[in-house]
Amino acid sequence: MTESINVSVQDPHSYSNVKEIRTEHLSLDLEINFDNKTLYGVARHKMSVSKANTAIFDINGQVIQKITVGKKGAEKEADFVIGKMDADSVLGQPLVVTIPNGTKYINIYYQTSSRCDALEWVEAKHTASGKFPYVYSQGQAILTRTWIPLQDSPANRFTYDATLHVPKGMMALMSAENPKKKSTDGTYHFEMKLPIPSYLIALTVGDIGYRAFDKRCGVYAEAPMLERAAKEFQDLPQMINAAESLYGPYAWGRYDVIVQHKSFPFGGMENPMLTFINPSIVAGDRSLVSVIAHELAHSWSGNLVTNESWNDFWLNEGFTVYSEHRIMEELYGKELSNTLCEIEHFELGEELKLIAASSHPEDARLYGSLKGRNPDDGMTSVAYVKGAYFLKTLEATVGRKKMDAFVAHYFEQYKFKTIRTEQFHTFLNKNLLYPNNIEFNTDEWFYLEGLPVNSITIKSKRLDLMRIYAKRTNAGEDIFAPVKKVRWILVKGKKKKRKETYTEQLKIKAFITQEWQTYLRNLSLGIDTARLDQIDRYTHFGEANDELKFEWFLLNIKKENRSIRGKLKVFLVETGRRKYILPLYRALCANTKDKAWAKQVFSEAMGGYHSVSRNSIASLFNQ
Ligand SMILES: [Zn+2]
Repeated sequence: MTESINVSVQDPHSYSNVKEIRTEHLSLDLEINFDNKTLYGVARHKMSVSKANTAIFDINGQVIQKITVGKKGAEKEADFVIGKMDADSVLGQPLVVTIPNGTKYINIYYQTSSRCDALEWVEAKHTASGKFPYVYSQGQAILTRTWIPLQDSPANRFTYDATLHVPKGMMALMSAENPKKKSTDGTYHFEMKLPIPSYLIALTVGDIGYRAFDKRCGVYAEAPMLERAAKEFQDLPQMINAAESLYGPYAWGRYDVIVQHKSFPFGGMENPMLTFINPSIVAGDRSLVSVIAHELAHSWSGNLVTNESWNDFWLNEGFTVYSEHRIMEELYGKELSNTLCEIEHFELGEELKLIAASSHPEDARLYGSLKGRNPDDGMTSVAYVKGAYFLKTLEATVGRKKMDAFVAHYFEQYKFKTIRTEQFHTFLNKNLLYPNNIEFNTDEWFYLEGLPVNSITIKSKRLDLMRIYAKRTNAGEDIFAPVKKVRWILVKGKKKKRKETYTEQLKIKAFITQEWQTYLRNLSLGIDTARLDQIDRYTHFGEANDELKFEWFLLNIKKENRSIRGKLKVFLVETGRRKYILPLYRALCANTKDKAWAKQVFSEAMGGYHSVSRNSIASLFNQ
């Protein structure tokens, strides 16, 4: 039996009736079965008591076996109806449970299906250690409903506990207080005692080890990655101190990081107490650790103060990029943080061009218009970088001291709450703009497309130098060729012996990733492919870290230099991070001579991509 249920007025991406009755605490008991890639178990919801006679949950793909009301052991079966799947099956289905007045406990017995987009199951042979299989979840934005039946709206916060049963010899971790060692019987218990939104429930199970940095932070990874990760992220304790000095005490107890499987679709995910990090961040020279600063900053913006709906996503991400840059400045200085700003500003410019030419030009506004669409569409540089530039421009207007006090006040005022853009607007007027008699074009920033003219510009001198190098390359100069020096050696007081020495003009390791990114981004498409091959002989960008590989491959695709296809294919098959693979596939699809090849590569690689990346790329081939 099916019936039509409308999505909630408050949150266009959830069917749940959280205004009438909401989960206060969720208790999970799940068996994780790697043989059939399925979770089996029960989700026990402790509800706020209300007079509602139905409780509506979000589901997507699960098989619901039965639903009961009442405390464990004194349960009575309840009637339920599963509503219609939405037209494009993004939101899933409403699960409507009929409940007696004053119901406190609703228990949903279920199992996941093959349509579980949150979970990525990895076979043992595709893991770093090769011994055990691996599974992880990605909840944001609305994927938690594919592995747990729940009210999947960021508008509601709740605490949770979980008991997970996994095969012996494997470690299970969640966004909660975590074990440091493997359990002997494969059973793990977790507690998240602070209220979080549903998208922050997360799990990982694999052959995982742990290395502590200090009493409150450390890193988890598969054994072959553990040492390298510990070295790369060794500044983590100082990062936490820097963040606390800016925004007040860290609220969540422990802060650990797990280096995820290479298929992880994002650079990082701020799951509380256990940030998920893409292995591409372990670059070997700490040049990409700003991603850790970003995820850490989410401990305030996003996890403590949360967007009420996905239309307000910029409140999570804009504040986080802004805070990330402040943390990086505290630790590594202004010049480096300016470098990051400039790099991201360029990316925003590129994305704004794509958005302006798309069927949704309104996506260039900070306040999102995602009703009826996949909220994943709002995960663009607009929320992140335009959001951060709004705050940076505000800071430049009011001064850093007032801005710091304002941001700390905002986190304090809204901690463990959710907030809408219009509420933030009122808070901003009341606490910063009106008291200081400042006129600011907030409406333009929030509700209009593009970047307002008062947006500040941030320039890095380090990147200026790289632009000069690119200009020289574009003009035909071989800037990498070693410089020959000839000396005459005196023999018995007379110039006799000629000696030639060669000195490298540019050492690759003398510059950080962002500098080479800028060099590559400023190379003209007018230079010939022979020149690109010559550059590669000196630099080996095609074998560098993932960030540089990506820039290098993108440039070569645009230049139709197909000699890179071998390495490019390996990269596309081995990497799951959407930031890299989506633009590469997009560039390949833009050329009819490359599209068929790209489709072939995608068909081979897609089984190893998380659904988040896979679905985005599949849409390129459907256009
Ligand atoms: Zn973020």
